[in-house]
Amino acid sequence: MKRIYLDYAATTPVHPDVLAAMLPYFTEKFGNPSAIHSYGQEVKGAVEDARARICDLIGCRPDELVFTSGGTESDNTALTGVIRAVAAQRRNHIITSAIEHHAVLETAEALEEQGCVVTVLPVAQDGILDPADVRAALTPQTAIISVMHANNEIGTIQPLAEISRIAREAGVVFHTDAVQTTGRIPVNVDELGVDLLSISSHKLYGPKGIGALYIRPGTPILPMIRGGAQERSWRAGTENVPGIIGFGKAAELAGKMMPAELPRLTALRDRLASGLVAAIPETYINGHPTQRLPNNVNIGVAYVEGEAILLNLDLMGIAASSGSACSSGSLDPSHVMLALACPPELARGSLRFTMGKDTTEEDVDRVLEVLPGIVKKLRAMSPIYKPAREGKS
Ligand SMILES: *Cc1c(COP(=O)(O)O)cnc(C)c1O
Repeated sequence: MKRIYLDYAATTPVHPDVLAAMLPYFTEKFGNPSAIHSYGQEVKGAVEDARARICDLIGCRPDELVFTSGGTESDNTALTGVIRAVAAQRRNHIITSAIEHHAVLETAEALEEQGCVVTVLPVAQDGILDPADVRAALTPQTAIISVMHANNEIGTIQPLAEISRIAREAGVVFHTDAVQTTGRIPVNVDELGVDLLSISSHKLYGPKGIGALYIRPGTPILPMIRGGAQERSWRAGTENVPGIIGFGKAAELAGKMMPAELPRLTALRDRLASGLVAAIPETYINGHPTQRLPNNVNIGVAYVEGEAILLNLDLMGIAASSGSACSSGSLDPSHVMLALACPPELARGSLRFTMGKDTTEEDVDRVLEVLPGIVKKLRAMSPIYKPAREGKS
């Protein structure tokens, strides 16, 4: 049975060229980039080349990019680092949205326990945040606004340029989690107007455990990890050299693939979304129909558990997801679905298909072939489906 992977928002396979670029840095090119000798300096040069490739992808300068262990650390550093830097000015207010990744929401919650004030803004039913709500939430104590570029569950792309204008007028630091967008759609720190931007390598065909934080010069932020002077003291610790080399190669490839991949994935997305809605009664597209990632389809299937559908799909060789990887394992509806104000019976039946470079039209058609039967079977066993149908007729 051919296996079909449709969970590219959770992680992506390392591109073969990325792996090839990384391998020498585990063996003969093992030097510590902080060392003065040629072993170290050769590696240092390669690390800086990789940094430049990533900067090219997001439109920043090399001295503005700090390597981290991934998107989670970048998000933690952005919020906590800014709050610590402005504490002396008595600014302790954080504005964020209800559909952020846990890396942002849990960090905000931890800071709240330490005395910060956190405003979590709701989103509309289509998953879009209203910039006017951000403006209305500002106080003289607001230190940072953190709004993700695109949501990892429903793919919705937020109006960041508008929000950043509001942040700039108010003199408030603006952070975005761009983990889902970088490498998939154009991301430019100046066009978005952000001060801080989080990215992660393993969402764009690079290795896991490496990411970066873009820091606009002059942004008040303190480092989280102290020690040596690596990353100009922004982030101590001997560099994850193979990870950085792989991330750099992945960024270079992403820039090259994007012009062709963006329209190709958009067409696959729309084929899958419209096919599912047509083939399965009482199915709904979650999130905005067009303001969304080119590779994300999220559907609500009424009267069935998302997990039950996933297990049945997996038996057919199809790997999808319900909500985010971080919340599966619990049967509670995801915080993102709940924020869309959809009824819990729909939230539980939400399914996420995220596509990538190896996804084909045949893969999409295979889902369209098997999913209607799975849903029909599960609904026939569902204790809530039949009464609801009868109540309607
Ligand atoms: C995957 C993801 C993260 C976490 O990145 P890691 O590198 O896995 O720590 C953060 N934010 C979003 C939106 C993500 O999709």
